[in-house]
Amino acid sequence: MQILIATSNPHKLDEIRAVAAGHPALGLTFVGLSDVGLDVPEPVEDRPTFEGNAQLKAAYYAGHAGLPTLADDSGLEVDALGGQPGVLSARYSGVAGGRDVVDPANNRKLMAALGDTPADQRAARFVCAMAFADPADTAWSLVVRGTFEGRIITPDQADNPAEPWRGCGANGFGYDPLFWLDGPGCTSAQLSPEEKNSRSHRGDATRKMLARLSDRGAG
Ligand code: IMP
Repeated sequence: MQILIATSNPHKLDEIRAVAAGHPALGLTFVGLSDVGLDVPEPVEDRPTFEGNAQLKAAYYAGHAGLPTLADDSGLEVDALGGQPGVLSARYSGVAGGRDVVDPANNRKLMAALGDTPADQRAARFVCAMAFADPADTAWSLVVRGTFEGRIITPDQADNPAEPWRGCGANGFGYDPLFWLDGPGCTSAQLSPEEKNSRSHRGDATRKMLARLSDRGAG
């Protein structure tokens, strides 16, 4: 079965594809939006939950592509900020533009919002809701959740404490340079792609999704 991974974020596409590649026995093949030549406006993500937005995106792209579709909605929850930025993670700063502009603006706002909050009160988690929609069976839908626990670095941990929002590390995307993991003792932007996938919210959600699709007999 061919499954569309409906995301315009190349990092998400790479991460989901890499995890799925580790399960060849399922007989699933994955294509991206550009592989199927689908160029439609992104849907408005106006649901209050990650699950709601993931389901909205999966149904929208499945309808347009006519293919079984996976979509994720993900973000960062910071306990000291009452769970913000949450479902608004991508739009937290309000700055518009490409990822090269928006990600640093979001990170700058997050570090400012936390100020000098002590390290032990900077707990945070990445959340990924992943939904599957099948245009041939619209009555059936599936959504799973993966999480990734860590904390936001303190300003003095950043490679350049004068610009703390730049954090540490160059891998990954979004808030990765600010997301500290006590186990490996680094940020998720300092993990290799394989290490991030083995621990991350998106890796967790993808593995859960593949198990559920396997149970359904999708392969
Ligand atoms: P979405 O495209 O609406 O799901 O927005 C996800 C946003 O959450 C991204 O733009 C990032 O800011 C953040 N995010 C989600 N997953 C990750 C991750 O794995 N690393 C870093 N940031 C992430």
